[in-house]
Amino acid sequence: MEILSLLGQGAKGKVWLVGAGPGDVELLTLKAWRILKSADAVLYDALVSQDILDLIPKDAEKIAVGKRAGKHSAAQDEINQLLVTKAYTRKNVVRLKGGDPFIFGRGGEELQTLVEAGVEFEVVPGITAASGTSAYAGIPLTHRDYAQGVTFITGHCQLESRPMDWQGYANPNNTLVVYMGILNAGIIRQGLIDAGRSPQTPVAIVSKATTQSQQCFIGQLDSLEQLAANPQLQMPALMIIGEVVALADSLNWFQPKGESAPDTADAAKIVAKV
Ligand code: SAH
Repeated sequence: MEILSLLGQGAKGKVWLVGAGPGDVELLTLKAWRILKSADAVLYDALVSQDILDLIPKDAEKIAVGKRAGKHSAAQDEINQLLVTKAYTRKNVVRLKGGDPFIFGRGGEELQTLVEAGVEFEVVPGITAASGTSAYAGIPLTHRDYAQGVTFITGHCQLESRPMDWQGYANPNNTLVVYMGILNAGIIRQGLIDAGRSPQTPVAIVSKATTQSQQCFIGQLDSLEQLAANPQLQMPALMIIGEVVALADSLNWFQPKGESAPDTADAAKIVAKV
């Protein structure tokens, strides 16, 4: 009865779909910060860094709904429904996501549910992992001499149901950024080489980018699997494939302190040539 009467009144609250950026708290936008400070309830992903979670007001309700590869937590449908429910009972509901909510973030799906339920919303973009990684690892994603374009793809497992366009990704003048690809490094290497991309193409795997635990592993496409299997590699991690990766040698400016990982100081500078 109570829910029905709530539904009858329409949602009182508003949902803010906010990008938290890749980790470094200072990469949060001023708008995201302002909205976070006035949040009544925050639903956040596993990727959102602790420094950013610390900005949430003490009296706000904090709900972890994150997913990590292999570890299932709340199902997407449940998250969508929870957002609607919260919008009926809270004024400022923040849906906080790592990076940018519209890049491999399912932000679109969540908003579609809000539209159906008649809930008001706004979207605040965030710095996506590709941009954060590129900047902090010293790898410009485009460069007039090496890459005229950049493509972001997911290396996540639905490879059979949605075949990858390896021919399209094999263009030597294009940088390829692979999100969620670590577990499929072998398939990605093979797909690209079979489609004609040079096995000597420089590749980087950057983990925990923009944080004090950032590590950068650099090698060549034919060693992608070995790089991905490095026991020191922590999650989340992103792959950058293309000639621009060679620029990291001279443009790599960020010196992480390796705070939460004792071995990272050396590994961070890397770089492992396999
Ligand atoms: N919406 C997010 C991406 C979510 S998909 C964004 O725009 O960044 C999750 C994937 O993002 C991870 O598997 C990893 O490939 C990448 N990722 C996110 N944060 C990262 C970080 N700090 N360092 C490296 N990769 C990261």
